[in-house]
Amino acid sequence: MLRFTPILLAVIYALVMYRVSVWRTHRELDAKSTELADVRLKRLTDRLAAALGVARIPVYIYEIDPVNGLAAPDGRIFITRGFYRKYRNGEVTGEEMASVIAHELGHVALGHARRRMLDFSGQNALRTALVMVLGRIIPVAGVWIANALTGLLAARLSRGDEYEADEYAAALLTKAGIGMGPQKSLFTKLEQLTQSRAGVSPAWLMSHPKTAERIAALDRLEARWGASR
Ligand SMILES: [Zn+2]
Repeated sequence: MLRFTPILLAVIYALVMYRVSVWRTHRELDAKSTELADVRLKRLTDRLAAALGVARIPVYIYEIDPVNGLAAPDGRIFITRGFYRKYRNGEVTGEEMASVIAHELGHVALGHARRRMLDFSGQNALRTALVMVLGRIIPVAGVWIANALTGLLAARLSRGDEYEADEYAAALLTKAGIGMGPQKSLFTKLEQLTQSRAGVSPAWLMSHPKTAERIAALDRLEARWGASR
């Protein structure tokens, strides 16, 4: 029993950290966000809502600069002030914003938003356990290997989520009559933004798979759906 105590403590620690991080995230979002009030975007999200058969899509502006969109486990969708500014400047169209909202809705509908938080604390527990085990066998490199392994696993898991959310968004946008075009054009725009300002890539792209691969995946979907119509 004594041998397993450190692992048990690591698991308990991870569970407590999970609760704290959920609570912190919600408090931060509540304090720094306001409901989106933009007539044109509202018209677009109402079309998404109609396609889903729900009354409305709860979209909020989160007051931070990095270009990002996120979904809370409770179903609220957040667009950062920085992203919204690009829309107001005319750099990003309303339809392209709708494609981000549809992608984030995909994370909520497919249970990713909740699982991601779980994954995060699960990863911490796994990392701690691996560091303890590997660190004992290989003193210095063990820690490094443990970190690399958990990082690799996390990237694998989240990449799958992204393609699923893209596919969900593609279906929803098609049903709402908006189509997949804005999804693809937004990917290209964000990629260009990354290249023109070296090193400053939008957070939304960094946590996602390669742009070209995402567009190719959408093209394959379009071809498949087109053929079955
Ligand atoms: Zn995503």
